[in-house]
Amino acid sequence: MEEILEQIATLKNEISAATATNKDEIEAFRIKYLGTKGIVKALMGEMKNVPNEQKRAFGQTMNEFKLLVEDKYNSLKESEEDLENAAGDEDLFLPGQQIPVGTRHPISLVRNRIISIFRKLGFAVAEGPEIEDDWHNFTAMNLPEDHPARDMQDTFYIHQNPSWLLRTHTSSTQARTMEKQKPPIRIICPGRVYRNETISARAHCFFHQVEGLYVAENVSFADLKQTLYFFVKEMFGPDVKIRFRPSYFPFTEPSAEMDISCLICGGEGCNVCKHTGWVEILGSGMVHPNVLENFGIDSKKYTGFAFGMGMERICQLKYRVNDLRLYSQNDLRFLKEFSGAL
Ligand SMILES: [Zn+2]
Repeated sequence: MEEILEQIATLKNEISAATATNKDEIEAFRIKYLGTKGIVKALMGEMKNVPNEQKRAFGQTMNEFKLLVEDKYNSLKESEEDLENAAGDEDLFLPGQQIPVGTRHPISLVRNRIISIFRKLGFAVAEGPEIEDDWHNFTAMNLPEDHPARDMQDTFYIHQNPSWLLRTHTSSTQARTMEKQKPPIRIICPGRVYRNETISARAHCFFHQVEGLYVAENVSFADLKQTLYFFVKEMFGPDVKIRFRPSYFPFTEPSAEMDISCLICGGEGCNVCKHTGWVEILGSGMVHPNVLENFGIDSKKYTGFAFGMGMERICQLKYRVNDLRLYSQNDLRFLKEFSGAL
């Protein structure tokens, strides 16, 4: 009996001094003292060797001892959990949670840039439907019945109703604006348009246009030139030159196509400009009197200019993208190229 009590006193010191720095050590402590083959159970087994008159005192000692072991075990567990939590709160070296940031599509970049340039000159943005009727897309814009653009080969018509079609240009938005608004009118119409083309690097069944329209008293061709010159300088830099070539469009008279000096070779001649030093970027002209009269605008009193360009073309010149198909393939490798673009 004395021996056992001495043993318990030693064990008590050992237990009080016990430490554990991780879960394995705590588990080892539990097995050593509280396991089925542990010290507490073994000591309890000594009860049968204790004389009857001392059994009561021994039982009490053993209960105290068991409680001591259990308390120690619980406090080891708690302090280990505290350590773990504290570590979780304060580990400043863990990498942060990444928030992926997308990039703007190159067409959107160009669209936003075009809008902001023309906004400086007082042009408002007008939008219209992509499914149009014949009047707004063709007739009102002075496109005659026999114009090739009306051909089934060039235009997507809606099967159920052949007088509906997917707009072939954003001029239909100009038409809708002139229908509602009296001069002065100063708008740009950015948007998607559709043509029945075989898809290749240089042609697609849909692309994006920006058209502009300015109708007021005394609007002249000089205003058109100055407006477009301002635009290309803002878009491509102060050194860019422009030239106009006579052209034909049904909705403008006179009409002109505008070229800018080649940005790649600076006018020396290269593959992009086909060794001419110039690249075509848009069509323009003075609004045809018939178009104004179609909307009840007095063509004796008011004049106007209009222009239209493809956003993909501007993109191609600005970012050197040579395949139109890339814009609609949603290839992230392509789109991520524009993360730092302006
Ligand atoms: Zn060139």
